[in-house]
Amino acid sequence: MRCMFCAEDVREEALVCRHCGNDLTMPPSLAAENAHLKERVASLQRELAELGSKIAVLKKNR
Ligand SMILES: [Zn+2]
Repeated sequence: MRCMFCAEDVREEALVCRHCGNDLTMPPSLAAENAHLKERVASLQRELAELGSKIAVLKKNR
């Protein structure tokens, strides 16, 4: 993965960046927001797939 501070590549399991020394563990508030956003993305993807199939039906019926 890429360090969010210095953009250098660091190991996936690293807790501290070996390049800049910053803490790579996510604060709980950010982890919660991240989980929430992942959920939102999943629901939007479902919506998009649904709309895509509706459009396909409309095109077929034209
Ligand atoms: Zn770094």
